[in-house]
Amino acid sequence: MLQYTRGGPARGEAYLAGGYAGGTRESQRDLISLVVPFHNEAAITGAFFDAVVPVLQGIPDSDYEIVCVNDGSTDATLERLIAACDANPRVRVIDLSRNFGKEAALTAGIDLADGAAVIPFDADLQDPPEVIPQMVARWREGYDVVLAKRAERQTDTYAKRGTAALFYRVHNAISDTEIPENAGDFRLMSRQVVDSLKQLPENRRFMKGLFAWVGFRTTQIEYVRQARVGGESKFSGWKLWNFAIEGLTSFGTLPLRVWTYLGGATAGFAILYAAYLILRTAVRGVDVPGYASIITAVLFLGGVQLVGIGVIGEYVGRIYMEAKRRPVYIVRRTYRQGQS
Ligand code: UDP
Ligand code: MG
Repeated sequence: MLQYTRGGPARGEAYLAGGYAGGTRESQRDLISLVVPFHNEAAITGAFFDAVVPVLQGIPDSDYEIVCVNDGSTDATLERLIAACDANPRVRVIDLSRNFGKEAALTAGIDLADGAAVIPFDADLQDPPEVIPQMVARWREGYDVVLAKRAERQTDTYAKRGTAALFYRVHNAISDTEIPENAGDFRLMSRQVVDSLKQLPENRRFMKGLFAWVGFRTTQIEYVRQARVGGESKFSGWKLWNFAIEGLTSFGTLPLRVWTYLGGATAGFAILYAAYLILRTAVRGVDVPGYASIITAVLFLGGVQLVGIGVIGEYVGRIYMEAKRRPVYIVRRTYRQGQS
């Protein structure tokens, strides 16, 4: 008979209760946790387990668990996941109370994963599971973080590649924390890195940035990103744009500071221009035309001010959201086969 544990430990509690027991890597089998967010992926859950389970079973000297986070799916995803959990004791399911977004779903899975190494992974198999044994091998060489970098992104549209490249360029130019280009969430993290990550209190979570922020000894391996096995991308252009803003404002205040400089430069220019106008009036007398330059200046400054206010609003909004101290996610129920 199957038993499920009800509810889940809160953030922090999991850190104390479910921690990795330590021990040397040689003397025991390592537990590898794959953390997978699912949002309306019923079409591909079967293909997912078929592809991933054999790869995980093939990793030498290790056990695995697959922590599936159901992020408020409205299709049959949860039922499929529970069925997978019934069939395979290494599959755990965390059902969130609604759709919290991929970042929150990943946070939930990472919080509850027990592995000595934790690997976030997309359900759509865009990241090839065959990379996982290579990651584990590098980790056993002594690295804390093994980044999987997309060697090429041919399966992404031209527009997505272009905007992604622009995002990384802008982000790394203006932020205090550099995020590696073309590295998604797909990476291996040691228990120590995961525990550090869990201590970060912010509830607006831009995971790629947080992953980079915690640091540790990092190495990279390259892979080719595939097309989705089925279903469709949950990230529209508009969602990605907002995600980019999230990233840019999460890791630095330069976008705020820039307005001080821009305002100063504009004001300085205005003073010079005023001096010029006074001189010209003194020399040539009153000049009636000038409507064009005035309206241009008014519109330009109005625009600059609105954008400036918008940027400040972005940060104020962020302070507001953080100040509420709401949890990142809420677990409705966790499913796990009882230990027999
Ligand atoms: N996902 C999620 N919650 C969401 C949106 C997406 O858990 O609100 C999951 C989705 O099921 C998938 C992963 O995040 O496992 C990546 O999503 P997707 O493949 O749509 O993103 P893309 O690869 O297009 O960036
Ligand atoms: Mg995808």
